[in-house]
Amino acid sequence: MGHVKLFIPGPVEVSRKTFEAFCRPMVGHRSKDFQELYASIQPRLREAFRTTRPVYLSTSSAWGVMEAAIRNLVRGKVLNCMSGAFSDKWYDVSVRCGREAVKCQVEWGKPITGELVDRHLSAGGFDAVTLIHNETSTGTMNPLADVAEAVRRHPDVMLIVDTVSSFSVLPIEPEKLGIDVMLTGSQKALALPPGLALFTLSQRALDRAAQVPARGYYFDFVEFHANAEKNMTISTPSIGHINALKSKLEDIFEEGLENRYERHRRNNAMVRKWAKERGFELFPEPGYESLSLTCIRNNRNLDLPAVNKALKEKHGFLIDGGYGKLKGQTFRISNMGDETEETMGALLRALDDVIG
Ligand SMILES: *Cc1c(COP(=O)(O)O)cnc(C)c1O
Repeated sequence: MGHVKLFIPGPVEVSRKTFEAFCRPMVGHRSKDFQELYASIQPRLREAFRTTRPVYLSTSSAWGVMEAAIRNLVRGKVLNCMSGAFSDKWYDVSVRCGREAVKCQVEWGKPITGELVDRHLSAGGFDAVTLIHNETSTGTMNPLADVAEAVRRHPDVMLIVDTVSSFSVLPIEPEKLGIDVMLTGSQKALALPPGLALFTLSQRALDRAAQVPARGYYFDFVEFHANAEKNMTISTPSIGHINALKSKLEDIFEEGLENRYERHRRNNAMVRKWAKERGFELFPEPGYESLSLTCIRNNRNLDLPAVNKALKEKHGFLIDGGYGKLKGQTFRISNMGDETEETMGALLRALDDVIG
């Protein structure tokens, strides 16, 4: 099979430059070379995370850190905001970790609002709230600042935010918003191969973790911090990912963060416009559409598997035919990563060719 370019919402297309960096020779993970590599990426990583605090690297997919956040910060009760496949699953993970998980649930495509979160938290006794900023399964972006403000009204409650499909797509200010755990993954907007998760912690999250028993080892936040102080990781990391990340940070800062945000916004607007002009409706409630991807209602009753097959065979592109219970009813087009007006335009022309 030739190269099929992915426009699914993760993993996304990885550039040749990134792959070349990924393939650099290994160094020992306890060597000075590694420590220098680790330290060299921190300033730019922190700038991209818009934080002054360390950015930790986990050799795992994002779910590793999503589960770790529960294990490290929740002793008893956690409020899980649920509005799609990923956020619904986080509730399930909290239950599997033996925590008292409480649902803050809305219909798929509807936003989680501060008012709703505030109302749930008023019951009292919560250790933390989990929120997925951009629910990738429905293409819905939650009003993060509004939810963060609501959580701040409950001083003992930690805010855990998944920015897996929004990180570097738009500015997110963890310290200003009072986010205690902000995590992302490598294979979405960062356009790296899958397998690395990145996160930052507030001081109070670290303090809380230190008091929570049975955190284990591999995902212990206290261990992450202790190793980071030495510019190292807990165990042998995916060194290829760290080299690739260094290369990606060069790209990001060559373009400029603001330009990167603007490029994502423009490319996303292109897809929305395309969809509307062809008689499609968007899935999310108006006003809460994602900037990373577009989740489009299949209101023209396209045979989506056939569309994707033709797209792949004739044009070498792949889009997503709907996630979970939305399979067949929606399709999703990602504009995350390195995409440009030209590459998005090429995809949309190919789609026109296939759907007629
Ligand atoms: C893709 C995605 C995940 C899962 O990431 P993995 O790297 O597969 O663990 C979690 N949350 C959101 C919002 C995602 O888009």
